[in-house]
Amino acid sequence: APRKLAAGNWKMNGTFAALDQIDRLAADLPTSGCDVLICPPATLVHAMSARAAGKLAVGGQDCHAKTSGAHTGDIAAEQLKDAGATHVILGHSERRTDHAETDAQVAAKSLAAYETGLVAVICVGETEAQRDAGETLDVISAQLAGSIPEGATAANTVIAYEPVWAIGTGRTPTNEQIAEVHALMRERLSARFPDGADMSLLYGGSVKPSNAAEIFATPHVNGALVGGASLKAADFGPIITAL
Ligand code: 13P
Repeated sequence: APRKLAAGNWKMNGTFAALDQIDRLAADLPTSGCDVLICPPATLVHAMSARAAGKLAVGGQDCHAKTSGAHTGDIAAEQLKDAGATHVILGHSERRTDHAETDAQVAAKSLAAYETGLVAVICVGETEAQRDAGETLDVISAQLAGSIPEGATAANTVIAYEPVWAIGTGRTPTNEQIAEVHALMRERLSARFPDGADMSLLYGGSVKPSNAAEIFATPHVNGALVGGASLKAADFGPIITAL
């Protein structure tokens, strides 16, 4: 069965002082059931993993497809791993929008993650215009086909469905809308990968303590990728507990 995962994406938020939240979170993590991951800005990966002391996993928010070289400002998967990361978010919609990342680039980055031994948390999601045009399932299918490389397994890959219009807006899809996309993802992954039935599928977009339990009750939702509500232990803690 897919592992349950509560993942936080701090995006471009947090300085060293924010690591206090890790102490608070670690102090009352539920002992059973689910994995917990936080992906802070790269500047905090090393310090956070030291502070987390194995109680929760730490990940990056992006990596380069190449292992090293003249790529100013970029980070290699191996460097994230060296800093204590076990996961890396790839193809987040903010990377796709702000940095024009394509499915092919996301797939190449995912391969770099696999070669290094990092779990790739690969993100997909439709825009509001695409949903309004009835294109959601086609968009998700194409992103899955293009962004996940051969070699993906339930051990090295997590998929996050993040509708762009639900990110940071306080708006969430209905349970039926989440269920429809997650069922499609499960079907596509199971058809393409031998253990696709066991890949963890996360929902992301305005997850908060008040809606987490209902979202987690949706079929084929194995956890969440949480933005704003992962910044404070007082919010992320109850979301983890709901999973
Ligand atoms: P919010 O939870 O802030 O809507 O962000 C979701 C997200 O993009 C996580 O990667």
